[in-house]
Amino acid sequence: MRRKLAAGNWKMNGTTQSLKDLSALGSAHKGSGVDILICPPATLLAPAVQTVSRSDIRIGGQDCHDQTNGAHTGDISAEMLVDAGASAVILGHSERRADHHETSEDVRAKAKAAQAAGLMTVICLGESLLQREATNTLDIIGAQLSLSVPDGATGENLVVAYEPIWAIGSGLTPTPDQIGEVHDFMRTRLERRFGAGVGRSVRLLYGGSVKPENAAEIFAISNVDGALVGGASLSAKDFSPIISALE
Ligand code: PGA
Repeated sequence: MRRKLAAGNWKMNGTTQSLKDLSALGSAHKGSGVDILICPPATLLAPAVQTVSRSDIRIGGQDCHDQTNGAHTGDISAEMLVDAGASAVILGHSERRADHHETSEDVRAKAKAAQAAGLMTVICLGESLLQREATNTLDIIGAQLSLSVPDGATGENLVVAYEPIWAIGSGLTPTPDQIGEVHDFMRTRLERRFGAGVGRSVRLLYGGSVKPENAAEIFAISNVDGALVGGASLSAKDFSPIISALE
């Protein structure tokens, strides 16, 4: 009942040259039975929207401000993302929490603004290695989940991505049991807060060193509805087999 989602986060990578790979990806997965989302850097949003216009790929931002407009140099509002043709936004990625000191309260305010603008929000949560070793991963995830996700969630406006910080870009991945434990926990928490119907319709992504080689094993875990992929989303050669593993 939940449509699978393959999401690519290009982070601070990509130039107009990268649009060729995006175009190839669109052709390779036309009519795909899964949702495909690519989040390029802001400079490429408009041309990326153009590039995928005849494919089934949707385009998203990597962050947005919680205000509609104003004196916020360097920032982009949810309305501006919509205006550029984006239909989604990643919020609360651990790199933004670390580099820009974003708190879960900040993420919640941004998510509220983004959902009000009609964007699908991909809200990221994850524990550090220190936190995992202290064995309080579920406490961390539970707190991040309740603080970062605004009220009014639906299966359309909310996607939650579990991204252990230590697994991002490191080549390390949690065991299937560790991923399953967190995803089951997030599902239960969402059902408790939003009711069974909504809680069961929100898609839960795993992110952190997802590669063509480990995708199938990760997608077989219960309550894993897809992936948020960084490095391996930068080329069609790597991202295409990950999408295929979901299809
Ligand atoms: P990675 O990044 O796939 O390069 O580990 C994942 C992410 O940060 O979303």
